[in-house]
Amino acid sequence: MIRFNVPYKASRELQHVKEVLESGNLSGDGLFTRKVHAFFSEKYGFRSPLLTTSGTHALEMAAILARIAPGDEVIMPSYTFVSTANAFELRGAKIVFADSLSYDPNMDTESLENLITPKTKAIVVVHYAGVAVHMDQVMQLAQDHDLTIIEDAAHSIDATYKGRPLGTFGSYAAFSFHETKNISCGEGGMFIASLDGDFERAEIIREKGTNRSAFFRGDIDKYGWVDVGSSYLPSDILAAVLYAQLEELDQIQTLRLAVWKRYMDGLSGIKSKGVDLPVIPDYASNNAHMFYIVCNDKTERTELIERLKEHQIKAAFHYQPLHRSKYFAGKHDGRSLPNADKYGDRLVRLPLFADLNAVDQDKIIDLVCDHYK
Ligand SMILES: *Cc1c(COP(=O)(O)O)cnc(C)c1O
Repeated sequence: MIRFNVPYKASRELQHVKEVLESGNLSGDGLFTRKVHAFFSEKYGFRSPLLTTSGTHALEMAAILARIAPGDEVIMPSYTFVSTANAFELRGAKIVFADSLSYDPNMDTESLENLITPKTKAIVVVHYAGVAVHMDQVMQLAQDHDLTIIEDAAHSIDATYKGRPLGTFGSYAAFSFHETKNISCGEGGMFIASLDGDFERAEIIREKGTNRSAFFRGDIDKYGWVDVGSSYLPSDILAAVLYAQLEELDQIQTLRLAVWKRYMDGLSGIKSKGVDLPVIPDYASNNAHMFYIVCNDKTERTELIERLKEHQIKAAFHYQPLHRSKYFAGKHDGRSLPNADKYGDRLVRLPLFADLNAVDQDKIIDLVCDHYK
């Protein structure tokens, strides 16, 4: 059986967890949380990263920080995970879905200007598969229309746009450390606030609306309820697992990139059968979060997934476009989003994880090629 994903096991996970358990300090913002924060600040220049209980929760923090309120319009791609939208739906926003590009599941940034109205408050970009959205265009729109940019960087660890780390463009960014992501602690995430003055409020929202973090630092002599918030900080046990993964980040990325490249080389022949392979624009890096192909139609995809399954290989389709979801379909403004539909119907992801061995991978490649013979 070749699994779709196998979480990477870093060598010092248990050692770090043991240290936390023995320290007696298991709650949030302990030793390993601080180490993780320092790692991200140093390596990517993130301002004041904050570990969270999930990527979903980091997005919820972004929606609260951005003061999204009922009636505000928020633009985002339809082809994304439900959490991207839910965070803003929870604040009462009106979600306006944008289409994907024809050659890339990422949002078509050229299409955004037409979606902006006087009520538009924010654009949420999702760097699908860790491939950067065309940020120059997005930042220009933000400037012209005074919009807040939020990056759903759930796929985007160790990825860049024109050499600059993803997660540093928007006013807010959310990363995920769910077990399906490159770096994981099972369930977890990270919130980044890049604007001056936002960090203090971010800390408060993350600590149940209290200024407890400032109190623990000794900045104030008592703490209390000062704003809205929730409990968004993870146990230091999870931070210990995450830190062990970060210690091996370069190794993980090297392994994943090798798998990605092997697919790209091995499958190049099926392009002549009308199948699309991923496109990495010049401005984007490749963090090997995912390898997908885009089949000619839905039936072909179903047959391919079935064929792989018969050979004990798990391949997976991805998002159902949110504008057509059961929850949202009735609220959608009726625009057709053909490219989002296309990826919803035809995109299939192949197994990709650091320890996928070449023998197994070649079996997958051979089967896919054979399917298109
Ligand atoms: C995984 C993911 C999330 C949510 O992250 P969790 O940590 O699972 O809550 C949000 N957006 C996208 C695009 C994702 O892939």
